[in-house]
Amino acid sequence: MNNQNIAAMGQEYVMNTYGRQNFALERGKGSFVWDADGSRYLDLVAGIAVNNVGHCHPRVVDAIRRQADKLIHCSNLYWIENQVRLAKLIADHSCGEKVFFCNSGAEANEGAIKLARKWALKKYGHVRPGIISAVNSFHGRTFGALTATGQKKYQKDFNPLTPGFKHVNYNDIQALRDAADDTVAAVLLETLQGEGGVVPAAREYMSGVKALCEERGMLLIIDEVQTGLGRTGKLFGYEHYAIEPDVFTLAKGLGGGFPIGALVARGEAAAAFEPGDHASTFGGNPLATAAGEAALSVILDENLSGAAEEKGNYIRKKLARMKEKYPVIQDIRVWGLMVGIQLSVEGQAIVNRCLADFVIINCIQGNVLRLVPPLTISYEEIDQALAVIEKAVALEKTV
Ligand SMILES: *Cc1c(COP(=O)(O)O)cnc(C)c1O
Repeated sequence: MNNQNIAAMGQEYVMNTYGRQNFALERGKGSFVWDADGSRYLDLVAGIAVNNVGHCHPRVVDAIRRQADKLIHCSNLYWIENQVRLAKLIADHSCGEKVFFCNSGAEANEGAIKLARKWALKKYGHVRPGIISAVNSFHGRTFGALTATGQKKYQKDFNPLTPGFKHVNYNDIQALRDAADDTVAAVLLETLQGEGGVVPAAREYMSGVKALCEERGMLLIIDEVQTGLGRTGKLFGYEHYAIEPDVFTLAKGLGGGFPIGALVARGEAAAAFEPGDHASTFGGNPLATAAGEAALSVILDENLSGAAEEKGNYIRKKLARMKEKYPVIQDIRVWGLMVGIQLSVEGQAIVNRCLADFVIINCIQGNVLRLVPPLTISYEEIDQALAVIEKAVALEKTV
């Protein structure tokens, strides 16, 4: 099938939940993807910050192939070697001690919310259901995660949402202090709001949040679904701050493209769940955790967090020069290979011009161009992409 056939059939049979481009991607290698008509694109979206190790990394492909030959799925009623090994690998390289595996970021956050409530019930001996999250946050589309997500546009048609949630302005410690009464079990935050426009937490804010959580007996849950796995120049976003969360969640980059999520906890929180409290049929299955172990090993062995940091610095310098030339660029926010370019205009026309030049980027919040390329992207590929973006931005001036 070609791009046109696939799009036509999709419009007929697939639910209309995405504003999709009119082509289908068929294969990928490193930083490149090919569509069904054979065109090649440089991919700076990477499955939305998923393909951190590049498309079809040979070690991930090999691990999936070998595992698919042995055992694809079995239940969590039995031990699974790959799952145990991946849990240890995550614990060895983070502040976490125990891991629960699931299949997506939303699901990991749902698990974190349940874990916090269970922890609070055990600790205080009574229900303490409150979860505080931030305005403009993004935590996923299932009901708990959607309620935690501080963006009305995603929530407005789906009331009633889940009780017990409060939202406070991000980077405003006083607002959090005011909201943190004794009904609150946990504070759920991103270290950098990805979907919310690539907006990082201030250093003092994050240490203030940690101190407040300790003072008021609340868990600190960090949503690392997008910032984790090397994306921001550290293995986990919380490492940029001198803090350790009680709980953090992972998904996007964890499986090298294979769907997998994880809930990671330490201390009392790690021991809160008991048999029967939480489960997932597919969570941590042999194939998913084979992919996860391979992808995380590549990130560690190839020091892709260090690479993300250096490449991010390179991009920051080049974008700073671009910003001087084009007043349409209002702000640039670069955290490793999580890059936001804030514009004074809508960004979609620039996204489309880049596509016409075979470079894939996307736009969030209407006016922020987001670049989240594979962490394996080469400097030459970065130069190519930035040249195309510059050309697209330059046209904006005259439009
Ligand atoms: C993408 C994302 C999610 C949701 O992950 P899904 O796998 O789409 O459910 C949650 N939190 C953050 C920070 C994300 O970027």
